[in-house]
Amino acid sequence: MTSPTGTSRPAVLPTLLGIGPRAERRRRALPASILRLPTIGIDIGGTKVVAGVVDGEGKVLEKLRTDTPHKSKSPQVIEDIIVDLVLQLADRYDVHAVGIGAAGWVDADRSRVLFAPHLNWRNEPLQEALSTRLRFPVIVENDANAAAWAEWRFGAGRGEDHMVMLTLGTGIGGAVVRDGYVDRGKYGLAGEFGHMQVVPGGHRCPCGNRGCWEQYSSGNALVRDARELIEEESPVVQPLLALAGGTAEGITGPLVTEAARAGDPVATELLYEVGTWLGVGIANLAAALDPGRFVIGGGVSEAGDLLIGPAQEAFKRTLTGRGFRPEAPIVHAALGNEAGLVGAADLARQVARRFRTIKRHRVERVVPA
Ligand SMILES: [Zn+2]
Repeated sequence: MTSPTGTSRPAVLPTLLGIGPRAERRRRALPASILRLPTIGIDIGGTKVVAGVVDGEGKVLEKLRTDTPHKSKSPQVIEDIIVDLVLQLADRYDVHAVGIGAAGWVDADRSRVLFAPHLNWRNEPLQEALSTRLRFPVIVENDANAAAWAEWRFGAGRGEDHMVMLTLGTGIGGAVVRDGYVDRGKYGLAGEFGHMQVVPGGHRCPCGNRGCWEQYSSGNALVRDARELIEEESPVVQPLLALAGGTAEGITGPLVTEAARAGDPVATELLYEVGTWLGVGIANLAAALDPGRFVIGGGVSEAGDLLIGPAQEAFKRTLTGRGFRPEAPIVHAALGNEAGLVGAADLARQVARRFRTIKRHRVERVVPA
């Protein structure tokens, strides 16, 4: 099928089966009373689990947080924390579904975490385990996909039908929202842009390869470069070193970002380099995907124009066909570190509607076996 604008449209069959962009749009067209259902979003990070009740306008009504003990990141421990937080919130709010945003590879069915680098999850059936214990509809989503969805629904991606989001934290998270749905790829692994090779034979990446983009444009890149200067006993790095408590180990991504915002020239220079690499990578993504907007989020993006400015310059310098094509804007994300939680909750809301028409599930405190 071809639309009047010449773009191809998906076939009808997936819509009838309840999957694909059209089915997602149809679900979005449900009555306003259902759109307002509060749901719970969960953000699982490397050191903490945050749960929040989110209303139909993307507003966080209440948030709870539990730190995860450093050495106990087993699936069972995280599951117990999630169940506990959800039940606490469900006592106070009439919630209808739970969405989990997990830093890891989530399969295309959004039920299994295939691999999570910071947690001991390998092919973990998280969705089934949690929905059995909670008796709520549960979806599991990659955290970058969840954040992108939130920005598209409520933030800096609003009104743009083809958006790419990049989340700069310790690495680079990526996601594509197109025609009102998250483009997850065939196996659920689309958007792993951070592991595109940009420097052959470059810095080693924990993924096993060398020269991955996120080795040059991330919080980890900031930290590595600052520590290199310290090892070389460079005098220019002294103010930054003092901020870090006098040790290289005290250097963190947020610390460098904060120092740059306070005017430290070395920190500003380090962010300039990270921003330049960001722009080069974005130009590559524009060549491959040609979206209408790039939204930049994550902790490193707190640096604002110190990061986005150099990225825009490098993007304009390296974009293929520059001067003869529209240039997609690169903008700062709007929702800050709540994006993952809000997006997971909103994606869960779509499932809540579907389940609600069949049978309204009530929360029951289930004692795990
Ligand atoms: Zn890599």
